Amino acid sequence: MTTSFGSPEARAFRERLRTWLAGNVPEAWRRAGGEDLTDDEVVEVRREWDRRLFAAGYAGVTWPVEFGGRGFGPVEEYVFYEECARAGAPEGLGRVGRLLAGPTLIAHGTDEQRARYLRPILSGEEIWCQGFSEPGAGSDLAAVRTRAGRDGAVYRVSGQKTWTSFAHYADWCLLLALTGPAELRHRNLSMLIVDMHAPGVTVRPIRQISGRSEFNEVFFDDVEVPVANRIGAEDDGWRVAMTVLTNERGMAEAANRYVDLMADSRQLLECAGHRPSRIGGDTLGGVEVYADRVEALRWQVMRAVEKSARGGDWFPSMAVLKLYWSELMQDMASAGLGLGCAEHASWWRRRYLESRATTIYSGTSEIQRNIIAERVLGLPK
Ligand SMILES: Cc1cc2nc3c(=O)[nH]c(=O)nc-3n(C[C@H](O)[C@H](O)[C@H](O)COP(=O)(O)OP(=O)(O)OC[C@H]3O[C@@H](n4cnc5c(N)ncnc54)[C@H](O)[C@@H]3O)c2cc1C
Repeated sequence: MTTSFGSPEARAFRERLRTWLAGNVPEAWRRAGGEDLTDDEVVEVRREWDRRLFAAGYAGVTWPVEFGGRGFGPVEEYVFYEECARAGAPEGLGRVGRLLAGPTLIAHGTDEQRARYLRPILSGEEIWCQGFSEPGAGSDLAAVRTRAGRDGAVYRVSGQKTWTSFAHYADWCLLLALTGPAELRHRNLSMLIVDMHAPGVTVRPIRQISGRSEFNEVFFDDVEVPVANRIGAEDDGWRVAMTVLTNERGMAEAANRYVDLMADSRQLLECAGHRPSRIGGDTLGGVEVYADRVEALRWQVMRAVEKSARGGDWFPSMAVLKLYWSELMQDMASAGLGLGCAEHASWWRRRYLESRATTIYSGTSEIQRNIIAERVLGLPK
């Protein structure tokens, strides 16, 4: 494991990866990012990408070698996601399994659970979704009300989840459910592995502002879940959920978003004709200011990753980076629309609509600010 982006190991890894990506990213995807493909074609490209990652040994890059991963540290992990994004690689359908379910099973699962679920996650054969949010429990995740009542060797699960990405393709759901008394906040939840094909599970896709349907409402009506499918102890699901959330706000997202922002920044300069210009009353300067903000993000990310590789805590950087890139993405999309460039109007419209979600998922901007104030800076509540 290397601790620096400039090390010979990190450079060599980047070169090898670039060569592999050059020969493996599907041309149709590289060109238009799936824009000109039907939903079914998009799904097939993403499944095929999962298979290619597995065949090349690039699935589960940070998983320990003993569980079929590569055992990479933070620097290689960041390089991996950055290069994938730069090469215009698709996002595999197995993302939730590889980034969230797998590491959670490795940290908290039983040997039987690891033996059963890890390999099909890596190979892309089984798709996972994350069933945390509910109509009344988003930022306040401890308010989850989906109930899992114990009935001998099974739990009977009833309730509703919402905003569940990938649920319409998923085989398994990482479900946070109430197993204890409602008033025992944080000490009444359990993490369950739920079969999405079981009787009583209904998935309803939600149509998004962008026109696509990438997430869903999921209803559980007296669904039987074996007790053996619980990850961790009963009523200790909050601790397991924190592992999931820490992985969710990890380096994959920061690397991908940095590359997206680079593309936006180039597009912004092109649309503005490379001339300093004022945008929508922005008095800080012309479009160049956005390129500077992207560059500042790059240095922040690299510093945080190297610190983490030397054993430092990723947590304080996590909230700051999420806040920074998500709000920058929205600012740039608004600026792009404001330029009124006829040639790239559809790019900016899409960016503007897509970027609405960035300050909501993986913890809203308000929640990130709370985390920074209370848990990073230690300010009083
Ligand atoms: C694209 C996308 C994909 C998603 N995928 C998934 C998924 O796969 N699985 C899943 O479980 N969830 C998923 N989510 C849900 C996401 O985690 C929640 O939307 C998010 O946690 C916010 O919860 P909420 O929507 O219920 O908003 P609320 O929590 O109701 O918040 C509403 C508003 O109040 C503010 N607010 C709330 N509490 C506070 C506070 N204490 N202090 C200050 N302000 C506060 C919020 O910032 C927000 O502006 C996804 C969301 C999006 C947008």
